[in-house]
Amino acid sequence: MFPPRPSSLADGFPRRDRFLMLKITNKEYTAVRQHGEETYPNECCGVLLGQMEDDGTRVVTSAARCGNTRSDSPQNRYHIDPKELVRIQREGRERGEDIIGFYHSHPDHPAQWSPTDLAEAHWFGCSYVITAVAKGRAAMTNSFELTGSEENDKKLVDEKIEVR
Ligand SMILES: [Zn+2]
Repeated sequence: MFPPRPSSLADGFPRRDRFLMLKITNKEYTAVRQHGEETYPNECCGVLLGQMEDDGTRVVTSAARCGNTRSDSPQNRYHIDPKELVRIQREGRERGEDIIGFYHSHPDHPAQWSPTDLAEAHWFGCSYVITAVAKGRAAMTNSFELTGSEENDKKLVDEKIEVR
């Protein structure tokens, strides 16, 4: 048996990365997936509101639907009107909720982020949730956290979704 390792971070071992996680109620999770089915074959999009816990876990308490303003290519692009985003943010704050993520759907494509999704993601520390909608039915839903601190080092990193 090895002696237990001291808990100090100064023991020369790198600190384990924190566990990335998005917690969401079954109601909001279902609503996000249904939205993708309703807008099929176009992409849906919306905002996730709730709280950020001390360990970085995001807890979704409501989801706001947005109109996809991309009329040129709504099957594989989404865009949220900044005015709509400001309104959602203000209404959320009145309820004590912050914007903690965004969601959209991938009609007939996997629930993986695209280079465009990364390029257009700017909210560091927020979750980006993607639902694959296959032939009109919601399939896999995945979530990614936008990590980094600036445009040059940003990444979308897999995170676990806990539905409760
Ligand atoms: Zn996408």
